[in-house]
Amino acid sequence: MGIHHGQVLSILRDEGPQSRASLARRSKLSPTTLTHVTAQLLSDRVVTECEAVESTGVGRPGQAIKLIPDAFHVAGIHLGAGLVQIAITDLRARAKATASFDFSLRETGPDDVVSRAAETLSRLRIEIGEPRLLGIGVAVPGPVNAERRSILASINTGWRNLPLASKFETQTGLPVVLEHNVSSMALAEVRYGIGRGVPAVLYVYLRTGLGAGLVVDGMPFRPGGHGAVELGHIQISRDGPLCSCGNHGCLESYVNENVLMRAVGLEGQAPGNLLERLEATEAWMPTLDRLTDSLAIAINLLTPDLIILGGHLGEAPDSLFDHLLKNLPPRVMPHMRGVLRIERSGFGPLSGAIGGAAVALDHFFYSGVRQ
Ligand SMILES: [Zn+2]
Repeated sequence: MGIHHGQVLSILRDEGPQSRASLARRSKLSPTTLTHVTAQLLSDRVVTECEAVESTGVGRPGQAIKLIPDAFHVAGIHLGAGLVQIAITDLRARAKATASFDFSLRETGPDDVVSRAAETLSRLRIEIGEPRLLGIGVAVPGPVNAERRSILASINTGWRNLPLASKFETQTGLPVVLEHNVSSMALAEVRYGIGRGVPAVLYVYLRTGLGAGLVVDGMPFRPGGHGAVELGHIQISRDGPLCSCGNHGCLESYVNENVLMRAVGLEGQAPGNLLERLEATEAWMPTLDRLTDSLAIAINLLTPDLIILGGHLGEAPDSLFDHLLKNLPPRVMPHMRGVLRIERSGFGPLSGAIGGAAVALDHFFYSGVRQ
């Protein structure tokens, strides 16, 4: 496997079955290289031949090449603050088995979380007949280092410079790559969901905190090689409440799960319809206004073609979307006003785990690095 293999596999993933002529055109590989690459992929049983999709109707239709989605699998793990979600997926990021568990941040250290996630993954593998896994993508709640081996700093878990990839590799025996959790969710939508073919996708995720991830031209945006789009830490009031980051008046200090749970008079685990409950309280309009203010800034800075809302925002009532679509356009540059799209995540509550799987698929399969 090499970079050319990854190139051909990515075309088959994104555009479906292709004739060899079409693959040669799209990949710009020489006929000799393409013949060599397709022969190897056929012998590895990663692709198969099928009837050409673009038959001319004259004579015998030619053969096309298509991906075999079940040829390999990967695992995606979302490490959230207090919640872990795991999915084993095929090569199209379709979940074959999923599991999740809660943990107490105060009582559980990262090593215990990793052990428990590894045990859960092992059980899932057995449940579905132990498919061969190429690797694990772990979506983590904070920016990762340039090598994507360590989480640099996670405010809501308190984890700093933690070599999570090595810890997972020791526990599972599989290669591991890390990615910022909301960037992973954005990547999954761009590769396999509602963001396919969209040049710039901004994903906004509300759970314990308020995070964002940006994918531009198919690549997660990592400013400085390790940063993240910290939408939640845009300061919207200098005199606002103390934020978990140490600053005052960040968007996240007003719009986070704890604050919203208090506003609706609930304790414990947040319900799926948290924002629907919030709609009946006087905290609703200020919450919408703060989101609108911050998203207007993000749109002017980042010019996303599509904004995807996930977590509690993905389960918000339609009135939240109506409010944003009415109030955002006048606040952004004129050329953005008519093209703003805001959608719910297509992967729902599994978005973090599917995000991890998308990262693993990019890293261990569609890059062509598989051994
Ligand atoms: Zn902050």
